Amino acid sequence: MAEFDVDLFVIGGGSGGVRAARIAADHGAKVMVAEEYRMGGTCVIRGCVPKKLFVLGSHVRHEIEDAAGFGWTIPEVSFDWPTLVANKDKEIARLEGIYAANVEKSGARIAKTRAVLEDAHTLRLMTGETVTANYILIATGGAPNHGREIPGIEHVISSNEAFHLSELPKRIVIQGGGYIALEFAGIFAGFGSDVTVIYRGDNILRGFDEDVRKHVRAEMETQGITIITGCTIDKVDRHGNEYTTHLSNGSSIASEKVMFAIGRHPNVANLGLEKAGVAINPANGGIAVDEWSKTSIDNIYAIGDVTHRLNLTPVAIREGHAFAETVFGKRPVQVDHATIPTAVFSQPEVGTVGLTEAQARAQVSHVDIYKADFRPIKATMSGRDTRVLMKLVVDGTTDRVLGCHIVGDTAAEIVQAVAIAVKMKATKADFDATIALHPTAAEELVTMRTPTARYVRQAAE
Ligand code: FAD
Ligand code: NDP
Repeated sequence: MAEFDVDLFVIGGGSGGVRAARIAADHGAKVMVAEEYRMGGTCVIRGCVPKKLFVLGSHVRHEIEDAAGFGWTIPEVSFDWPTLVANKDKEIARLEGIYAANVEKSGARIAKTRAVLEDAHTLRLMTGETVTANYILIATGGAPNHGREIPGIEHVISSNEAFHLSELPKRIVIQGGGYIALEFAGIFAGFGSDVTVIYRGDNILRGFDEDVRKHVRAEMETQGITIITGCTIDKVDRHGNEYTTHLSNGSSIASEKVMFAIGRHPNVANLGLEKAGVAINPANGGIAVDEWSKTSIDNIYAIGDVTHRLNLTPVAIREGHAFAETVFGKRPVQVDHATIPTAVFSQPEVGTVGLTEAQARAQVSHVDIYKADFRPIKATMSGRDTRVLMKLVVDGTTDRVLGCHIVGDTAAEIVQAVAIAVKMKATKADFDATIALHPTAAEELVTMRTPTARYVRQAAE
């Protein structure tokens, strides 16, 4: 009889867990995956995918508004939120089915239940079953974090609930200045809600390039989104179906919904980590792992958002794949977490890869900046008051392109392709040697000849 019930037990059927389970099973391992909610995890069920569907739907407003300049007369339009939500739910259910089917096709077994650790080799399922495993992979993801307890916090929704509202709020207040806050600000504004964003710092998108931050804010404000910086939400009062949000600057705002998007915490609570001896990383609250995603216990690994490294789907997938190759494919693979492209699906969109100007100036002695801020061709006819930002950050000594930052329609699509060049350590001369593709916005990336700024760091005295 085998020493363990399974070779691998995966806790969490999200992006990372599913990939790891399938690859391990392909390598011949006997695999079991526990999922307490819905197969596909955050990205598929209440993250990237439904979010992108909502972004695409809300962007239709811009197309309608832009049409007149091209000669179209569009009769009065109307929008039906319940139809959007129902169609989105149908698509998500379809994807969930595909995720489950693919796992089963690989030979892995799914247990639709919560699983927790009893010890380093034993899992307890909520069905009452106990399963022993040679290896355990913790891929439990993360969840919205509402921060400190403020009066009225029970009235506040997160992105989880935003996907299932029964009606479109006429007015919504969103706290946060990161990915989710800005993406939902664009979504609700596009569908016609009056949106106010409350952010605690001096400008939204902290950590992104300064020019990107300024550009996105200006564009969102031009579209009518109110962005209030330098304050927080202290209290939310309910009056029937309406809420009054009290801000730390003494003012208040009335709305039908209040949403917080102020970060997510790794799902580590009540998992039995202490029973198995799995350590937490005190720096970020996620499960502590080494460069192989191995935890403090030799046979237990953790990947994706639960490790709170870079909380992006393709990163979780890559980490899950690398784990399965290393442990079951006997082909050691480490994930390179450097130069990972990312996009904020705000409206307009942000696409970015590599170093910001500030990071480059801190890391290398000579930095050349190439920047174009221009009116896209479509706006010349539509009359829309909008501008595109393209920025390259170049090492002035080696000519290597260290970073690329774009704000504008399809920025994410452009940056996915540029990321290959940046990852390959392409130089500005390589960009210049590439002939432009005309007429596009992206051609600016290969036609910007003269630096708009040059920085030389003075040697320390
Ligand atoms: P998850 O996908 O969260 O999966 C974890 C799974 O574990 C969940 O299904 C959960 O139910 C299950 N689980 C937890 N505990 C247990 C337990 N004890 N037993 C059984 N099951 C358990 N990333 C991008 O790259 N691009 C985007 O556009 C993007 N948009 C996003 C939009 C939103 C609104 C949100 C919230 C996130 C978004 N992300 C995006 C981030 C992305 O969703 C995550 O990085 C990704 O899903 C992480 O995958 P994971 O496998 O680590 O965890
Ligand atoms: P982010 O970390 O992107 O943003 C959190 C925001 O909330 C920041 O502006 C932060 O401010 C602010 N904040 C944090 N704590 C508080 C507090 N106590 N009070 C007031 N404001 C606070 O988190 P999100 O929730 O937007 O998203 C979580 C993660 O999910 C993202 O970081 C990303 O990894 C992933 N994601 C990816 C997406 C994509 O790839 N397109 C889309 C959505 C999510 P400050 O900057 O000052 O700290």
